[in-house]
Amino acid sequence: MSARVLVVDDNAANLKLLEVRLSAEYFEVITASSGIEALEICERSQCDIVLLDVMMPGMDGFEVARRLKSNPSTHHIPIIMVTALDQPADRVRGLEAGADDFLTKPVNDIALIARVRALVRLKMVTDELRMRAVTSSEIGVTDHMFEAAQDSGVNAKVLLVEERNSSIDRIQAALAPHYAIEVEKNPQAALLRAAEGDFDLLLISLEFQNFDGLRLVGQVRSLERTRHVPVLLLTDPGEEARLLRGLDLGANDYILRTADKNEMIARARSQVRRKRYTERLRDTVQYSMELALTDPLTGLYNRRYMETHVGTLVERSAARGKALSLLILDIDYFKSINDNFGHDTGDDVLREFAERLKASIRGIDLACRFGGEEFVVVMPDTDIGVATLVAERIRRRIAGEPFPVEKGARGIEVTISIGITDRVGPQDNASQMLKRADEALYRAKRDGRNRVVADAA
Ligand code: GH3
Ligand code: MG
Ligand code: MG
Repeated sequence: MSARVLVVDDNAANLKLLEVRLSAEYFEVITASSGIEALEICERSQCDIVLLDVMMPGMDGFEVARRLKSNPSTHHIPIIMVTALDQPADRVRGLEAGADDFLTKPVNDIALIARVRALVRLKMVTDELRMRAVTSSEIGVTDHMFEAAQDSGVNAKVLLVEERNSSIDRIQAALAPHYAIEVEKNPQAALLRAAEGDFDLLLISLEFQNFDGLRLVGQVRSLERTRHVPVLLLTDPGEEARLLRGLDLGANDYILRTADKNEMIARARSQVRRKRYTERLRDTVQYSMELALTDPLTGLYNRRYMETHVGTLVERSAARGKALSLLILDIDYFKSINDNFGHDTGDDVLREFAERLKASIRGIDLACRFGGEEFVVVMPDTDIGVATLVAERIRRRIAGEPFPVEKGARGIEVTISIGITDRVGPQDNASQMLKRADEALYRAKRDGRNRVVADAA
């Protein structure tokens, strides 16, 4: 896992020290000796993670963190604050300024590598998702993501897997005001509980009398249901080798049983925040993919989707020598519905129309909103005779019963006109079919509307 780490410190000796240690782990390192310089580098997207000194002349680390987190183009870059050991209050301030994690000086090697690795791994995932979500930035959900990044992690559900009573008490005392904590003393039962409990965080002890906590970490990471749940390891000082194994197995971070309350809260919070951020990002990607295919008003496929697929459907039917019909449906005098009842009522009519249309066709038929009040249905394995019957059925379903509007208080008479064609010969194609169906629709309109006209070709 190669990543570019930006180390920010006003002291050249400190910079050198961190650079050497990180380079030894094959991280690429760039350095900045002031806050301003660091902001510029981040703005140009030149780093994956920032190690930020707190005490610097000019702009201090808190201010740098605040600025990075309040800028939508840099707020996703993880920040690790490097604070002096004797200033626990600084840690809390750092986290409040938006730091994702912190390290204390003198920096312990394992802590350094563990924290950098964990945050880099997470950033790789979020970068991938952000890339897939490009279209979403065009529709304004970046603000939504920005909000998610500010999530404080409150009300999260935590599963604590630990058998030592004293440790359970300490952790509960620290976290209970902020989180809903469930305790599982039996590590063998923990996996099932984790899989079924919908937790935001798992806190797993590495030391059980008769069980290896690392085994549970491995299981949690390989089970689909728990793969994305953050894991914090819980251990005693001096367990470096096992800690590293745990982090290699996919644990996100660790806390020592001796850690102070603020540190526990901070570590838990930063994992929960990241999880929620990633989840929202996933939902956004899903959403933007749906958005790219469907029309938000009616839930039918959109024109773009239809245009990319109708060609394939036509070719496939030609290759198999099967029939294929295409309908264009247009609501009659829709403009006057808008004019008489308002645009919102017009929208209600479009939605109701889409429902009736969906109910009148088969699952394999492709229905899409082609534009304003114009719709296209493609019906595989259907010749023009059957298509005409289906079209008649749709027409009656629309004209036969008034459309309820204003919450059912009134009904509007709605009619539609439909033009139909089917595939003729092996050379026929989608754009010719659309053109013929459109001509048939035009005749239906001209002949008085509320009717179905089949193309004579
Ligand atoms: P015709 O019988 O010849 O089809 O007449 P028409 O009034 O239905 O056709 P025309 O194309 O003149 O008008 C269509 C109207 O549909 C105009 C446009 O403002 C309206 N429209 C298009 N999209 C929407 C929409 O999403 N919601 C609403 N409420 N109206 C829409
Ligand atoms: Mg119309
Ligand atoms: Mg029209």
